[in-house]
Amino acid sequence: MKKSEDIKVFISHRDSKCDECGESLGKKAWITLERGKGALCLACAELEQLVFLPTGDAALTRRARKHSVLSAVVLKFSKARGRYERQGLLVEEHALDQAEAECLADAEARARRADRQRERQAELDQNYVEAFARRVRELFPGCPAEREVQIAEHACRKYSGRIGRSAAAKSFDEVAVLLVFYAYGDHRETNYDELLAKEWDRREARVQVRSHVDEILRSWQRDQGSDI
Ligand SMILES: [Zn+2]
Repeated sequence: MKKSEDIKVFISHRDSKCDECGESLGKKAWITLERGKGALCLACAELEQLVFLPTGDAALTRRARKHSVLSAVVLKFSKARGRYERQGLLVEEHALDQAEAECLADAEARARRADRQRERQAELDQNYVEAFARRVRELFPGCPAEREVQIAEHACRKYSGRIGRSAAAKSFDEVAVLLVFYAYGDHRETNYDELLAKEWDRREARVQVRSHVDEILRSWQRDQGSDI
């Protein structure tokens, strides 16, 4: 249903008087202009039962207006800008209540949806970590117990959005797994961090530790479960 033109309520700058009841309304009175009647106070215009909803919440305003059979736009003249500016809306109280309830329900629905997405993401991540760990265990059967889970968790954190989330890693491509493995191994199984701390060039440090890492990996590829 399309509404007829909005009723306009003006916040007056001047001392105002209602042309119907004759009441003096003072400065900043809320009045409406009615053809043939002049300036009316809200009581005489039968708008007094409406509640004011200031501008600022577009969704709330739209809904309140939709639910309100009678509504009015509140305008105030800005001397600085030389034009009338919208201050808000006068709406029926039940309409505002209903609009507020709907906006609240929306916010709750959004929060619930976000919760479900977080749960789903955590589940996906967990499945991913488990599959990754199984692949590490397949490639390196001699890897110490639980180490494959640590590696998988590390890889998923460190490389999320990079290797860990790439198509290659999703299919548990051997090379991707190895890359992650090396990156992890550099820090975990060798003195790489120690070398860096001693201000070794990063590249030299990597070369230095690579043979050590290779040695560890070779031993893990043999299914003997020896802890190093
Ligand atoms: Zn009046």
